[in-house]
Amino acid sequence: MPDSAKKLSDLQARVAQLESERALTMRLAQTDSLTGLVNRGAFTSELCERLEAARATGERVALFVVDLDRFKLLNDTLGHHAGDLFLAEVGERLRASAGDGELVARLGGDEFALISSDADPARRAQQLLDLLTAPHAIYGRQVSPGASVGVAVFPDDAAEAGDLQRFADMALYRVKTRGGRRWSAFDAELRDENQRRRTLEADLRRGIPAGEIEPWFQPVVDAQDGRIVGVEVLARWRHPEHGLLLPGAFVPMAEELGLIGRIDEAVFEAGCACAAPWVEAGLIEQISFNVSPRDLLDPSFSRKLIGRLGKTALPATNLTVEITETFLLQDLALSRRHIERLNAKGIRIALDDFGTGYSNLRALMHLPIQTVKLDRSLICDIAKDQRVAKLVASMLHAARALGVRIIAEGVEEEAQAIILRAAGCDRMQGYWFARPMPADQMDDALRESRAAAPRELTSEPGRLRIHA
Ligand code: C2E
Ligand code: CA
Ligand code: CA
Repeated sequence: MPDSAKKLSDLQARVAQLESERALTMRLAQTDSLTGLVNRGAFTSELCERLEAARATGERVALFVVDLDRFKLLNDTLGHHAGDLFLAEVGERLRASAGDGELVARLGGDEFALISSDADPARRAQQLLDLLTAPHAIYGRQVSPGASVGVAVFPDDAAEAGDLQRFADMALYRVKTRGGRRWSAFDAELRDENQRRRTLEADLRRGIPAGEIEPWFQPVVDAQDGRIVGVEVLARWRHPEHGLLLPGAFVPMAEELGLIGRIDEAVFEAGCACAAPWVEAGLIEQISFNVSPRDLLDPSFSRKLIGRLGKTALPATNLTVEITETFLLQDLALSRRHIERLNAKGIRIALDDFGTGYSNLRALMHLPIQTVKLDRSLICDIAKDQRVAKLVASMLHAARALGVRIIAEGVEEEAQAIILRAAGCDRMQGYWFARPMPADQMDDALRESRAAAPRELTSEPGRLRIHA
């Protein structure tokens, strides 16, 4: 072969190799490695393209979102490997059932989706449910976590891919909150809800800079002598039309919209301004703030918080940051860096809602945490169920061994307070002592509690108990 011909053929071979590598990289970037299905990113662009095409042909396109009902339980009881096997099986079943032109994707976790032009979305949804309810053997055990399905149809429900996805999600969410194991289609009820939500979102974007988010305060008392030793700061939204809103009505929405950081900031600033003087006057020693679990995924979270604290009159040693374990273990190294940075300044870390998840103990063992807040769901049965009382007593015992302070949350009855005190709980918080209140009432309560003569634990609920 002449030299130039050899060079040309080498070049062609090299180009072909690069092409095939590029195709592989593209495929990997679009594929979910566990199930081999397309991933969320690729799915979303495919949905956009199909809607574009359907606009031209006048075809209807149904979007199904599928979520397994009790997958977390399966994962927690049989382990992650079993969980992965099961997800792969679900992916396989969906792929096998996909008809002409249908596209199946894994959106993430235990969530899947299907695009279909099936003329009868209701029948197709029921088929998907039946498919996923059939039991599957893992490690010799028959498991069937069941599934829920939400459906939205183009162009009947939505004209854009983003809306179609959100509407199918809303339908899915409604089924889930009603117990799962069914399918549901986007309908007039959800359309109204969507409209209300849109309005509320706009209200929140306007309301945060307008100063409508305010800090409320709930006392934390010493379990042994009943003194108020701290406050937890809780966000409230003073909505111009709807009145005072609780976090349940706006915190999840703010998290979704990426506004939660701004809410936490507003609560922190205003909360410190109110509560720093109480610390300075020696009325309380700890102020706790809640931070969104999502904030922990931001590498600059701790540095920003320390910076913000520097602008207030509150000493770092009087500040507690309450975090839930949601994302704590997702990036253990990052969580540890945040916590150590805050600890180094003297800021305490409290693990919130302890006793609700499965991995709480792991967080406690692997991270330098100073306080644990026992969740209300544990406390509410403590006086009714001996076994719960024993469980809580052994948790208190374990925490003491680790040198961790325990705050019992949601104490609503005197009997609960007495049991907790006898079991050696450090601090308590709940309606039995006081409900959350605005700054001026908290100020009165603090001054009153200092002036009042000591009282026994036994008096009417809703009043602060001061024990001799
Ligand atoms: P949380 O941190 O677990 O706060 C305790 C919640 O329990 C508060 O609800 C409080 O009012 C309520 N509570 C206290 N004692 C009792 C009781 O004896 N019985 C009952 N049934 N409930 C009691 P709230 O104020 O509605 O807050 C709900 C959640 O919203 C908080 O749960 C927290 O996770 C979140 N949150 C509140 N403020 C903020 C904030 O500023 N930032 C962020 N990111 N989240 C916040
Ligand atoms: Ca909290
Ligand atoms: Ca809590």
